[in-house]
Amino acid sequence: MNISTLAKDIIEGRRISRQDDLDIFLSCDLKKLCEGADHIRSCLIGERVDLCSIINGRSGGCPEDCKYCAQSVYNHTDCEIYEFVPEETIVNSCKMYESEGVNRCSIVTSGRMLNDREFEKAVHAYETMHATCKINLCASMGFLTAKQLHQLHQAGVTSYHHNIETSQRYFPYICTTHTYDQKVDTLKLVKAEGMRVCSGGIIGMGELWEDRLDMAISLAELDIDSIPINALMPIPGTPFEHEKPLTEDDILRTIGFFRYINPTADIRLAAGRALLTNDGKRAFQSGASASITGNMLTTAACATIRSDKQMLQRLGRNITPDYRTKCLWHRSSKS
Ligand code: SF4
Repeated sequence: MNISTLAKDIIEGRRISRQDDLDIFLSCDLKKLCEGADHIRSCLIGERVDLCSIINGRSGGCPEDCKYCAQSVYNHTDCEIYEFVPEETIVNSCKMYESEGVNRCSIVTSGRMLNDREFEKAVHAYETMHATCKINLCASMGFLTAKQLHQLHQAGVTSYHHNIETSQRYFPYICTTHTYDQKVDTLKLVKAEGMRVCSGGIIGMGELWEDRLDMAISLAELDIDSIPINALMPIPGTPFEHEKPLTEDDILRTIGFFRYINPTADIRLAAGRALLTNDGKRAFQSGASASITGNMLTTAACATIRSDKQMLQRLGRNITPDYRTKCLWHRSSKS
């Protein structure tokens, strides 16, 4: 089977599993892989692009030992350290993202989890955002209990983010203070709560191509809705500071096969867009359907919400947020 035929089969309903011969994704022509991924994206997702932005709710001082992360106390970086930020700051950022036409925004906090007092503050901030904004609300707060996820859901959060980061095999090489299985358990709790699940990982941490394929298959098995793909930007003071950055071709091949293996999920560009031409234009033509925009993850690439929107519009993609489409539909259905 060639890769173009496989793309057509996926559009017609075929799904890739662990039992399939995955070598085709590593050996096939990159251009053909990307064209097929774009075709799958166009047929199964359409032209809309899901843009999201993050609000840093708490930074630094994390007791976990993730080797790629600037916020871990094990690493010696110049990362900012602050406690949970005031609600007013959070709500103002949320309103700014909504006015810029971003589809979702998320409070993201460093650390294994929030303490009870911080979690209450987070829930209250979400209630205020839900009452005053239309933007879709996401959260990324580490390991939460079923009860906490329910509280966030009740407060208006519709999507929870928790990366599996890499393959199960490679996970112990990047973190030893928590496990891959604990991450998967959290994702199952999010699903059970009925929230949308956002989970992906980081490539370029010394893993094998087989680990990237394994991560893509694991996410398909978990039926993940949104998959952020970060390309490692080595941070001075972390154990990965000397990792060689990935080439654009390697990143595009990864994005491409994630689309084949997770054909109906949002494949989301995240950190590392500085490694891509024009902040990811080719990636959007190789299977990507979503991106984090307008915050620290993308400033290294000089991308802004506006420049992302312009680039996507030039590609003929629809960047109108859901909540604006719904409003327009609601108005026209009344008239
Ligand atoms: S748990 Fe999150 S904030 Fe803490 S070191 Fe790991 S990635 Fe960084």
